[in-house]
Amino acid sequence: MPKDLAKRRAIESVVRELFRLYGYEEIETPTVEPYELFAAKSGEEIRQRMYVFKDLKGRMVVLRPEMTASVARVVATKLRTAPKPLRLGYIANCFRYDEPQRGRYREFWQAGFELIGSSQPEADAEILLLSSELMDRLGFSEYVIKVGHVGLLRGVLGAEGLSEEEQNHLMGLVDKAKYEEAIGFLESRRASNDCVKLVREVFELGWLSPREAVEAGRKLFSSYSEADRPLENLEEILSLTLEAGVDSKKLSVSLGFARGLEYYTGMIFEVFVPQLDIALNGGGRYDNLIELFGGPPTPAVGCAPGIDRIALAMEMLGLYQEPPPTKYAIVIPLESELRGAALRVAKILHEAGIPAEVEVMGRGLSRTLSHASKQGYKYAVILGKREYASGNVVVRDLVREEQREVPIEKLKEFLAS
Ligand code: AMP
Repeated sequence: MPKDLAKRRAIESVVRELFRLYGYEEIETPTVEPYELFAAKSGEEIRQRMYVFKDLKGRMVVLRPEMTASVARVVATKLRTAPKPLRLGYIANCFRYDEPQRGRYREFWQAGFELIGSSQPEADAEILLLSSELMDRLGFSEYVIKVGHVGLLRGVLGAEGLSEEEQNHLMGLVDKAKYEEAIGFLESRRASNDCVKLVREVFELGWLSPREAVEAGRKLFSSYSEADRPLENLEEILSLTLEAGVDSKKLSVSLGFARGLEYYTGMIFEVFVPQLDIALNGGGRYDNLIELFGGPPTPAVGCAPGIDRIALAMEMLGLYQEPPPTKYAIVIPLESELRGAALRVAKILHEAGIPAEVEVMGRGLSRTLSHASKQGYKYAVILGKREYASGNVVVRDLVREEQREVPIEKLKEFLAS
């Protein structure tokens, strides 16, 4: 509805301002994509919730459930040789057969920032920084960026001999906070007692400050050298993000954090506000996806703020300010032979950037004026035969309830002032 869309547009304009400031070029990809594009790495959760169907040629296609895979495929094909880094942004509708509820819709809008070509921690920090800046610019004061690193758990699980599918399954359970089930699964895969103990401790630790998390990580993961680099990487990303100016109180770190999507290879994060228990934004590093789609090995990191959820949160917190009404001038022909002239006068105003609507209901003057006042128009431009013949119109100030005759060539200046 117009009011809802106005909210979405307001958020989108902040997103587009960040595209401009951070240098993200906007991209658009097809709504309908081959099934395989998302089957590969989207993760069980999304795979089960995709709108999948056969097109008339019998090909399995989907309505895109998210955008990162589509962007990765474009980078692997059309932008294969483009100089790196590439900064690509988008605002797109996505589709998931989620159970509809507050903040969870079957068609929803994602904005996105993808920073492609860099494996440096400053790229990860940029994504965290702009996610934080988006929240600041929208007026959120209390929010938390929950950060983790999939390399930690995956490092341990790999060392314990769990296959990638088994790791994916376990990460899926962790994503849904099914910690006991995850522990049970580990035990069923004959993971060592040390490993089970470590994973349990990681889950019990929960959310920590950046410093606490790094210290705890050093102790907990000390017997798994596979976790050394991920931990170092996480530490560096966090310290760059703090140095960039993100408030440390807004960063919360869990060493056992997982997200539903399977393509993540490094830092992952989600953004929350205390009033809503679902994420407003989510993202992370995906260094293998572009190669998976046939491109050269290309590291990448990105995020996707959910526009509908942000709009909902803003509404709940009273952050959204109604824009001033746009109704301005209504042009009223008093005679049916002046209908074309009314359209012409409105066009003159449009050319000067002044909003003007033509009366098209065939109503009489008094009914039109009362309608116009109720609807919040500021001026009525009235075309009468006599005045029009001498090149004039009557301008009625609907707020002050005064009127005067104005030459048509002066109308623009008169209404603009
Ligand atoms: P994801 O691709 O799952 O990381 O989602 C990124 C963001 O998209 C989330 O943080 C939400 O803000 C938004 N989002 C995901 N699924 C939905 C949905 N069903 N309805 C509304 N927003 C969603």
